[in-house]
Amino acid sequence: MGIAAGKKGIIFGVANDHSLAWYCAQALHSQGAELAFTYQGEALERRIKPLAEEVGSPFVEPCDLSDDDQIDRVFTKLNRLWGEIDFVIHAVAFADKKDLEGHFVDTSRAGFQLALDVSAYTLTAVARRAAQMMTSGGSIVTLTYYGAEKVVPHYNVMGVAKAALEASVRYLAADLGEKNIRVNAISAGPVRTLAAMGISGFREMLKLVEVKAPLKRNVQGQEVGNTALYFVSDLSSAVTGEVVHVDCGYSILGM
Ligand code: NAD
Repeated sequence: MGIAAGKKGIIFGVANDHSLAWYCAQALHSQGAELAFTYQGEALERRIKPLAEEVGSPFVEPCDLSDDDQIDRVFTKLNRLWGEIDFVIHAVAFADKKDLEGHFVDTSRAGFQLALDVSAYTLTAVARRAAQMMTSGGSIVTLTYYGAEKVVPHYNVMGVAKAALEASVRYLAADLGEKNIRVNAISAGPVRTLAAMGISGFREMLKLVEVKAPLKRNVQGQEVGNTALYFVSDLSSAVTGEVVHVDCGYSILGM
């Protein structure tokens, strides 16, 4: 019996075995949770299916979160399978690569809308549907980054999207609290993933954290996964609307 035993939930955002969503999946599975997965588009299917098998998942479906019909379809199928869920992991973000280099001031309307839609609005789109299946309460966890709070070179429109995501966490927590549904965000330090490598200057960010952070190292994906496990488990039963930094202390330096 683990601290997530008896809990069932859905994970959005596994692209490969380096994804933060996958670290969350492994931590949750190790403590007894049952997991459902979605992936974005056919190209990822080949990678996700074997990972989902590794953790005994009965549910692996495509879902582009920018499409409401696809989200509805996934929740209808999940409802048929389990009827009730206990948690959601939302580990999804996207911006046009050209908006993650150069200057924020050059962000186009289309680039802004795309980044905010996929990286911020999708949490609300998912939370609304998930809440209907969380009949015994639940926990919704998303992933954010320090660039929401302070200007981080090249993070640009994604920083604005993460600020919207973090505000969404608080509003969702306020709305869903009376159903005993908790909503929290993990603000992770830089971890080498597919999405992260798209941010120009990412390697420099890793080096800077190693030198400056109080713990003098970068965070490991497993440590992000363990924090998601804490939020899904009853250990965090009185915690909601929070953004917790899992970044070896980097954010306390205020730079
Ligand atoms: P990743 O590339 O492994 O995961 C990003 C996921 O987003 C992918 O699975 C991708 O398919 C999915 N995605 C993008 N657009 C989508 C859409 N329209 N519909 C459905 N899925 C879509 O990278 P990651 O670093 O694991 O990113 C996960 C989350 O963690 C993101 O929110 C990211 O901003 C956040 N984060 C990452 C870091 C880091 O350094 N890696 C730090 C802090 C926060």
